[in-house]
Amino acid sequence: MHKAIFLDRDGVINVDHAYVHTPEAFQFINGVFSACKAFQDNGYKLVVVTNQSGIGRGYYNESQFQHLTEWMVAQFDEHGVTIAGVFFCPHHPKNALGDYRKACDCRKPFPGMLLQAKAQLGLDLANSVMIGDKASDMEAAFAAGIPTRVLVRSGQDLSEACSDKATAVVDSIAHVPDLLI
Ligand SMILES: [Mg+2]
Repeated sequence: MHKAIFLDRDGVINVDHAYVHTPEAFQFINGVFSACKAFQDNGYKLVVVTNQSGIGRGYYNESQFQHLTEWMVAQFDEHGVTIAGVFFCPHHPKNALGDYRKACDCRKPFPGMLLQAKAQLGLDLANSVMIGDKASDMEAAFAAGIPTRVLVRSGQDLSEACSDKATAVVDSIAHVPDLLI
């Protein structure tokens, strides 16, 4: 079993410009590559878990999301960082079209994506870490039994940057290696 760093995407890996779905609009947060390299060098697998209700809302489709994901993973590769998996939730309980509108168990704050990653990748959640910019990230990790839950303030919506489930709060992912390593 591998320990893992779970990464929310928008507001953690990239600046959250809301419903980002093209490489042109995807702006990496300063220091994200070197932070992830440090995690990897210390034995953590890197797993992205991202709510993407923009798919359900019809703002972009799954193939656009996958295209952006392949591009993002390639950028990490170029910096010597392997992303072990990217898990996404396209649903929304109210504001989504057709089959995408449902009360799923994968949309954070529910832990479904984290549990799916654990099963697929053989992850040791009790020694893993969540990095997110919203309370829902912290709650999903708490529900999954992830003990270290780091809230970053780099997301656009600072009103979301508080949670009683966070075990640490820092300005951005660039500061997380100092906490963990
Ligand atoms: Mg976020």
